Amino acid sequence: MKQVHSVCPYCGVGCQVAVAVEDNRIVTVSGARGPANEGRLCVKGRYGYDYSRHPNRLTRPMIRRQDAPPKSADLVVDPADPWEVFREASWEEALDFAAGGLKRIRGQHGPHALAALGCAKGSNEEAYLVQKMVRTAFGSNHIDHCTRLCHAGSVVALGHCIGSGAVTLPVRDVMDADCVFLIGSNPTINHPVAATWIKNAIDQHGTKLIIGDPRLQDLSRRAFMHMQFTPDSDVALLNAMAYTIIHEGLANEDFIRAHTEGFEDLRDHLQAYSPEAMAPVCGIAAADLKLAARTYATARNAMIIWGMGSSQSQHGSDNVRCIITLALLTGQIGRRGAGLHPIRGQNNVQGASDMGLMPSDYPDYQKVSDPAVQARFEQLWGCRLSAEKGLTSMEMMDHAVAGDLRGMYIMGENPAMSDANAYHARQGLANLEHLVVQDIFLTESAFQADVVLPASVYWEKTGTFTNTDRWVQLGRQAVEPPGEARQDLWIIQELARRLGLDWNYAGPADVFAEIRQASDNMAGITWERLEAESAVVWPCRKEGDPGEAVMFTDGRFNRPQGRALFVPCEIVEPDERPDAEYPFVLLTGRVLEHWHTGVMTRRSRVLDALEPDPVCHLCPEDLLELGIGAGELVTLETRRGTITAYARADDKLARHNVFMPFCYYEAAVNLLTNPTLDPEAKIPSLKYCGVRVSTGGTAGIRSGFATQQAHAAGALH
Ligand code: SF4
Repeated sequence: MKQVHSVCPYCGVGCQVAVAVEDNRIVTVSGARGPANEGRLCVKGRYGYDYSRHPNRLTRPMIRRQDAPPKSADLVVDPADPWEVFREASWEEALDFAAGGLKRIRGQHGPHALAALGCAKGSNEEAYLVQKMVRTAFGSNHIDHCTRLCHAGSVVALGHCIGSGAVTLPVRDVMDADCVFLIGSNPTINHPVAATWIKNAIDQHGTKLIIGDPRLQDLSRRAFMHMQFTPDSDVALLNAMAYTIIHEGLANEDFIRAHTEGFEDLRDHLQAYSPEAMAPVCGIAAADLKLAARTYATARNAMIIWGMGSSQSQHGSDNVRCIITLALLTGQIGRRGAGLHPIRGQNNVQGASDMGLMPSDYPDYQKVSDPAVQARFEQLWGCRLSAEKGLTSMEMMDHAVAGDLRGMYIMGENPAMSDANAYHARQGLANLEHLVVQDIFLTESAFQADVVLPASVYWEKTGTFTNTDRWVQLGRQAVEPPGEARQDLWIIQELARRLGLDWNYAGPADVFAEIRQASDNMAGITWERLEAESAVVWPCRKEGDPGEAVMFTDGRFNRPQGRALFVPCEIVEPDERPDAEYPFVLLTGRVLEHWHTGVMTRRSRVLDALEPDPVCHLCPEDLLELGIGAGELVTLETRRGTITAYARADDKLARHNVFMPFCYYEAAVNLLTNPTLDPEAKIPSLKYCGVRVSTGGTAGIRSGFATQQAHAAGALH
């Protein structure tokens, strides 16, 4: 048996793990001492590893049969028996076919007819090569990834206000904070090890936890206060807190004067946002809004942690601007225990953004529209590049439906499940002339593929992954890929060569060396140091620098004159509110046991056994009023679709709110969600729309379907 030191493949906390391997099989995963976890793991990290041996694993390339049923948004392919739709192919044939289709479209319709989605579960090296391939071979900036659907609002607002889209300090700094304001985030479920540090801070140091969330959570029991505010009223709540800070003389005037601009405009704007005026809007008593503001502002050190509850909104960037305002008003930034932390979802969503897997940014957030940046990358890559901003992920689907986007390459993403109004995404995917999917399972998006390239799971490759704290960590290969599945770096490079790129990277270390040339913030990180230390935090600009876990310690922000910017934000009416026809609010998110669209965790035996069926949560009073018993089938319907799931009584929900996780294919809640976009961040309103709830349902609910298939095949373990 051998032990491999690596990193958990699930969430952005980035827990380091020790993987025990015997005969090319993972036997156990246990916690290792990493900067984010100190040996701690949650249930996903500890038990969610056996998906890699699931019998539905893709192990040979596949090409769509010429006599396959026509592509359609309604087409369902059984991952265990896809042979009516696909046939097996050799790697040579599949890669030639994949690249040939992309080249034909580029030749006939130009670069704007092609786009790609990269993968936030892949390594930095993979993300870097994917965006480079799109920019240099496709010839456009039509490249995006799932940060568009989680923290795009945060990245835009942070970039606008302080000039950097990343966290300003690590999660573990809650241990140095007297106050933690947690808004739109449920870390016990989504970032469980981060939640343990918050619990430790409360228990060991008396840290005051303020929670703002429409739904109560496990941490609420330990919180100083929980503001269970009306969904989609973040701006009202946060502006009322900012008003209080100014009007009660709690603002840090020295900090504002020395390090910010735009304060006078903000102060004038906030006149209309007194707690008394905002209480009926956000559903929180004025006295509680004031108490929260005072507690945050008067703490010696205070942190704000927020999640997708704040950013996944058509007001996502404004919600985050209001969060940033609180930190700038009080000077609660730039110290241990004082700062801003948009807690990131996927294990490498921070790194994927850092690597430029975005339509507006090259690596290190350098803008494609900046001529000096364009010149830098033209020199580095030896080619001409487009200065035109590319399409975001949701826009890609609009263009695919319209027919002017004709070809796509999708690595490890699943828009058929994760996009808001997912049926629209399925229509777009079905409408493509040529779709190349590189993945580990036949995802719902891959149902529409013309060619499927079987890739490696996390445990089968080596690469760097950047966690929510900006720690660049080395994930080390533990096992070999099964069958003819190949490492992603090899697949990307073979595809790129067939698209005319003269690439010859020997491995991840080679790619990382080029990343250092493209990113000033990572220029000081060497592969050798990563091998020796397993984690180095960026910014690390020169070799030997320790790296900056806490940013802006000198009060200079990455903006003109080093000053952070206050941006006044108004309440903007959402385009859809609950009404007589759709009277409940639909909230979406995760459950502890399942990750995102369930591709991995629903194929992990322990996790699927713990939470096998699609459930939707309602408060007991609503269930009583609707005449629905817990465990009975319930149908959810919005203006976009209908799904059926099992009802679960959940006293953490307010009346007339429904919560539904988005991991269940057979009850895909994103078929219901609202695709209206934040105008700047282009993030959809995934967490707020009107929904009708009724008893019963006819959808095909299959209990524990992934596990059953696995057990039937007898292939797990
Ligand atoms: Fe993995 Fe996140 Fe759990 Fe840590 S907290 S073990 S990184 S899923």
